[in-house]
Amino acid sequence: LPGPGLVCPQAVDIASLLPTPGAESDKYRRGVLAVRAGSDPYRGAAVLCVGGALRTGVGMVRFGGGKGVADQVIGRWPEAVADFRDPQSSTDLSPGRVAAAVIGPGRGTHPANADELRALLDSDVPVLVDADGLTLLTGDGGGPLAGLLRERTAHTLLTPHAGELARLLDADRADVEARRLEHAARAADRFRCTVLLKGSTTVVAHPGAPAVANPTGTPLLATAGSGDVLAGSVGALLASGLPAREAAMCGAYLHGRAASLARGGAPISASDLLDALPLAVAELS
Ligand code: AMP
Ligand code: MG
Repeated sequence: LPGPGLVCPQAVDIASLLPTPGAESDKYRRGVLAVRAGSDPYRGAAVLCVGGALRTGVGMVRFGGGKGVADQVIGRWPEAVADFRDPQSSTDLSPGRVAAAVIGPGRGTHPANADELRALLDSDVPVLVDADGLTLLTGDGGGPLAGLLRERTAHTLLTPHAGELARLLDADRADVEARRLEHAARAADRFRCTVLLKGSTTVVAHPGAPAVANPTGTPLLATAGSGDVLAGSVGALLASGLPAREAAMCGAYLHGRAASLARGGAPISASDLLDALPLAVAELS
């Protein structure tokens, strides 16, 4: 429950944080998001993640990945730009005026993906790390990549569920579930980054700031691909220039509202969230 050190943002709070495009906006100012998601066995994760970003109102998505996945992404979202033709551009963010990056959903844990993650963490753009990206952080020997997090100058946002956070902290999953806020805060301090811990109540921890409990959401969100949509949506907000803590709280809020709006309380699939995200944004405009 909200109390000292824990805030529970309401619709007006989220509305005041969300970027509203004005006459001076163009696609670059609204934000270019690099997405590094999906792999041959998990092509849908890339489609959902890119969709989450587009439907939250990003200026542009630049997708980097193998040809099979990129074909699928562009087939569903022709507005996305695929960087797969140029192997360099998968790690080089500079040509695309990239403002933020999302890495991990369905990406796999191949060693080449660890190089891709390292390149992003070495860059000075805000980075959201989810799913397989989190696994790579904790990889062999306690994760040299996790050490990079503390040295970053740009914002880093981790979006684990309880199991992923347990692995990051080398803690017991049941213990993480029992003391969610505490563990999220511990990870935020340890890795000097923002942590969005997913679950029945999603919480956001950030070093030196009050923790946030997200008021929206429904157990209907517990369905495959729903986290991939969230990663893209929060990534879009990061690319728009919101700091990581604010992007996380706004993204979690919109994601939860989208789940309720999508089918009026009836069961949803992750794809339904994509249609409802714009409604969740419009509700606050
Ligand atoms: P993932 O674990 O990456 O598939 O993401 C699952 C998404 O569903 C996250 O946004 C969670 O917060 C949400 N979620 C999972 N279980 C529940 C639940 N019981 N109640 C509300 N939201 C949930
Ligand atoms: Mg996930």
